Amino acid sequence: MRPIAELSATEAARLRGVAFDLDDTLLDHGRLAEATYSALFRLTEAGLELYGVTGRPVGWAEVLARLFPVKAIVAENGALVCARRGERILVEDSVDAATRRERDERLTQLLHRFALSFPDLEPADDVRARVSDRTFDIGEYRQVAPDRVAEASAFLREQGARTFVSSVHLHATFDYADKASGAVRLLAKDSGLDSTAVRHAYAYLGDSENDASCFAAFAVSIGVANLRGKSTLRPRYVTARPMGSGVVEASEVILSLRRKL
Ligand SMILES: [Mg+2]
Repeated sequence: MRPIAELSATEAARLRGVAFDLDDTLLDHGRLAEATYSALFRLTEAGLELYGVTGRPVGWAEVLARLFPVKAIVAENGALVCARRGERILVEDSVDAATRRERDERLTQLLHRFALSFPDLEPADDVRARVSDRTFDIGEYRQVAPDRVAEASAFLREQGARTFVSSVHLHATFDYADKASGAVRLLAKDSGLDSTAVRHAYAYLGDSENDASCFAAFAVSIGVANLRGKSTLRPRYVTARPMGSGVVEASEVILSLRRKL
């Protein structure tokens, strides 16, 4: 990883937009700072398109897509999108309604079995707003030891589910999307670029293990200073400051390089 200050003018110049994770990237322990919110407006004023890419529920994305200066929010680790389409905010599921119902039933059955073996894992407080997954709190309001998270993940995978781990949550799903597949599909559709061009046209900012697919997918991948998770999948750049102030720092570097063009 290199300091974000080493981002090249060429890389900054070809950006069409910036995609970013929410928890512990844009948000400082769940809170949005005024300077971070302002940085989003500076980016859009410079003509950059913004996209949120989160493991948070699509129910949250429906609200955030109205409040943030973004074109869309990719929610639930890539499974659903909430996008501004004209004057409206629309939810776009990656699967049809019948498939969604069938996966939801399988998740309900899986979670009954899971609760018997892992009574110590508690559901996250945002599960009511979720469509494609079930989620447990491992670091938001309570701390679960990494070994226990690994045991729980292994159990869920043995039962056929896929799992994602962020700084706050363990997710279980029967969907096949991840943050990168969801984001690249949406960005290609919105921009008209092919998926290879998309990877150079948008920067990605994240902090955690569930950002790894995006760190691998996007050429300008940026970790904030509080980056954690598996060390094998790293972003190309890292900020000196953590969370929201790291987003501000990266925005300033991108904008200052583009002003010199
Ligand atoms: Mg995060």
